[in-house]
Amino acid sequence: MATALRILILGGTTEASALARLLAGDARFEATLSLAGRTSTPKPQPIATRIGGFGGVDGLVHFLRGQAIEAVIDATHPYADQMSAHAVAACSRAGVTLASLVRTPWTRHAGDRWQAVSTATAAALALGSRPSRVFLGLGRQELAAFAAAPQHHYLARVIEPPSPAGLPPDLRILQARGPFDRDAEERLLKNERIEILVSKNAGGTATYAKIEAARALGLPVIMIERPHKPRGHIVGSAAEAVAWLERHFHDAASRSLRGV
Ligand code: NAP
Repeated sequence: MATALRILILGGTTEASALARLLAGDARFEATLSLAGRTSTPKPQPIATRIGGFGGVDGLVHFLRGQAIEAVIDATHPYADQMSAHAVAACSRAGVTLASLVRTPWTRHAGDRWQAVSTATAAALALGSRPSRVFLGLGRQELAAFAAAPQHHYLARVIEPPSPAGLPPDLRILQARGPFDRDAEERLLKNERIEILVSKNAGGTATYAKIEAARALGLPVIMIERPHKPRGHIVGSAAEAVAWLERHFHDAASRSLRGV
């Protein structure tokens, strides 16, 4: 029997967890899920998990070689562009094949009032000078950018509380983890008298309800555009990633049968 294909999944997303579930218990694959360590209590995973940065491109090359990894799936979040750049560079140097699981971005629908900006800093500026009630549906790392627009009242929803230094003065934290429900999002925006939202174009369903709620209430959304992410072979879902891995497993198995 052919030996298991050794895989590294770069995770931190629902798709990476879905892929881990699909690979768990499959004897053709020996997969490790890598998390950055941003959340202190990550959800338990059904495959081997490692936590923390690799130490840049050199560190990742060292890891790939040391663990004899044969395939990498970059299933990081659409805004985790540094990890993806490192994955492309390290896989190329270590001669390891790379696939990137790309989540389709949300697109505008009739009634959406989106203003596209390229960074959180630009989003803070785009809120304007008049004090407004603003909902921030962003990661906690982006919150400090809004200190540049201290005239607004902010409600920020985050998985874990941010460190207090450098935050805008009038900011309340709502700690919650998706997926979120459309009716509950509408209630939240109404009860909090939110006038404008700031969001990343995360794609997927887990956090889309706030966009639907904003549309229903006619509220404007400042949409921070996705960064450019270097990529390997593109797959669109965890199932497609498995199909890609199966092709590699068969190629590796037939090479070992031929003694290549
Ligand atoms: P980033 O800016 O692309 O990466 C910064 C550094 O964090 C990387 O250079 C790497 O450190 C480490 N890192 C990132 N992802 C890693 C992983 N899966 N395994 C091991 N190390 C990792 O990433 P980020 O935007 O801070 O996101 C961090 C994590 O949160 C990612 O796993 C991402 O999928 C998840 N996430 C991000 C967002 C977002 O909006 N950015 C939203 C939801 C989830 P070294 O250079 O030391 O290797």
